Amino acid sequence: MALLQISEPGQAPDPHQRRIGIGIDLGTTHSLVAAVRHGVAECLPDEQGRVILPSVVRYLEGGGRQIGLDALASQVDDPLNTIASVKRLMGRGLADVKARLPYELIDKPGMVAIRTRAGEKSPVEVSAEILATLRYRAEDSFNADIDGAVITVPAYFDEAQRQATKDAAQLAGLNVLRLINEPTAAAIAYGLDHQSEGLFAVYDLGGGTFDISILRLTRGVFEVVATGGDSALGGDDYDRAIADWLLAQSGTAAATASLSASARAQLHRQARQAKEALSSQDSVALDLVLDGHRLSARLDRALLAQVTEALTSRTLSAVRRALRDAQLGKDDIQGVVMVGGSTRMPVVQEAVRAFFGRDPLTNLNPDEVVALGAALSAHQLVGNRGADDILLLDVIPLSLGIETMGGLVERIVPRNQTIPTAMAQDFTTYKDGQTALALHVVQGERDLVADCRSLARFELRGIPPMAAGAARIRVTFTVDADGLLTVSAREQVSGVEAQIDVKPSYGLADEDIARMLQESFSTAQQDMQARALAEAQVDADRMMLATQSALELDGDLLSPEERLRIDTLLNELRQVRPAGDAAAIEAATKSLAHGTEAFAAMRMNKGIQQALAGKNIATI
Ligand code: ADP
Ligand code: MG
Repeated sequence: MALLQISEPGQAPDPHQRRIGIGIDLGTTHSLVAAVRHGVAECLPDEQGRVILPSVVRYLEGGGRQIGLDALASQVDDPLNTIASVKRLMGRGLADVKARLPYELIDKPGMVAIRTRAGEKSPVEVSAEILATLRYRAEDSFNADIDGAVITVPAYFDEAQRQATKDAAQLAGLNVLRLINEPTAAAIAYGLDHQSEGLFAVYDLGGGTFDISILRLTRGVFEVVATGGDSALGGDDYDRAIADWLLAQSGTAAATASLSASARAQLHRQARQAKEALSSQDSVALDLVLDGHRLSARLDRALLAQVTEALTSRTLSAVRRALRDAQLGKDDIQGVVMVGGSTRMPVVQEAVRAFFGRDPLTNLNPDEVVALGAALSAHQLVGNRGADDILLLDVIPLSLGIETMGGLVERIVPRNQTIPTAMAQDFTTYKDGQTALALHVVQGERDLVADCRSLARFELRGIPPMAAGAARIRVTFTVDADGLLTVSAREQVSGVEAQIDVKPSYGLADEDIARMLQESFSTAQQDMQARALAEAQVDADRMMLATQSALELDGDLLSPEERLRIDTLLNELRQVRPAGDAAAIEAATKSLAHGTEAFAAMRMNKGIQQALAGKNIATI
């Protein structure tokens, strides 16, 4: 029997009105966009059916630009205005740029710029052109607006490089749901996040870079435990090795230096075609004319392996180093994910298989795997829950909480909580008639506010005057997918509300996090004592305050002896409070509470009598 489906209140009954999230792999040489359609992630093609967009932008005479394949085709003829590999420049100053690039860089504070015929271009602007092209492609495929995008970045990207990527996406009109690490995206594409735990290696050999990442999965959350690689080692180097071999073969090595820029580009293109052909065939013939010199040769797989041997073993050295950094052996790795077009080379797959002693995961397209994982993540982040569950990707590095009386921290979001998340706790007022609450948001594992990091302060005003402890103030911590924290406080009866936005992870380097954790472990005992004392003092203060206000209001109910006894207990408590002995304070507080029980009963009776005065039994 078919079941009728009923939509949730407030949600569109039309299942096609789902929100659209896209995943973008903004690569050094290639970029792709993917999305979940009909429940599966797929790369979105352009009008010609191609999914790969070369990450190349060419600035034309007269203000136009070419993006992708057209730009790539002009690289040979117009190298100065054709910007490729711009990812290497994101968030980098001139001194940081190691790559040799065929266009002209200008030194600028913060980030280099590129001199083109269309003026100086920032790497952010160039990347935005690529991202916008992919955004239009997605809009065309869905014939709808895109709600948000997940963009991937290398695991080693620092804050400046990540910020530059975010800026580029915003410039391209994208709503960035989150930046995720490329290896994490690849692991998600292979569904490795559905296992409960494990250690995985992601081997990513792209066009110009090699990255190795070791990921640890714990309860659905990936953590990058080590990264390594070589930012100047990739498919291009294989091309160069083939080109050099070809020149040497033809005895024109001497001419290399004098080869024109366009001849050199042509040579590299041919070498690359030969290399790619060898991934599906055993041998290939090369034949070309460069600046009047004719080159021809035949290349086969065995020869390719020989010519590029040094490059492949450099990748394996980096893998070894990363494992050593993570203090892991090859045997600890439960799966190896292959990413990047260059992992199509049988010689590379063979080397990785031999190294780990297991078959690497290669059944997804290595060009697409990062974009596919980003799409799965975007799909979930825009609010479309998968059939089975949510993907858990990121965690809060240190607990988040609020300062309570006595300089204590009440933790609201515990460390390692996965984000996005929202957690709430109720608080109350401390004094009778209190109409405002000072909220202090802190981060850290220690029990005392003084030992944690202060994030923000704000106030909730307009609480209606009530007896101490009667107000119900709900404080909610919401951490979005980017780690942006919003803290809101709402008094439940009157509905008065206040909130503040905080960026919890900003400015806190990994070393700081490590240090704060270390301190919290080594001082747990000390913290517990401090917490007990502060709590005892808060209780004592509350008890003294309540007694005093009761005496002021209803002191006349007491006989002089009764009054004296209470005053004595009050004085005793007042004296032990500053001494710093939690047990003594607790005992004195208890005595005062005990000694005022009869008084409290008298006050209650008086209240009832007042309420009943002048009323007929029948009316109550
Ligand atoms: P990036 O992540 O740096 O943008 P990609 O992952 O797209 O790079 O990889 C591009 C590289 O993959 C290029 O060097 C290209 O020559 C290489 N490549 C693509 N297809 C093949 C193939 N069939 N065989 C060998 N190499 C390939
Ligand atoms: Mg890549």
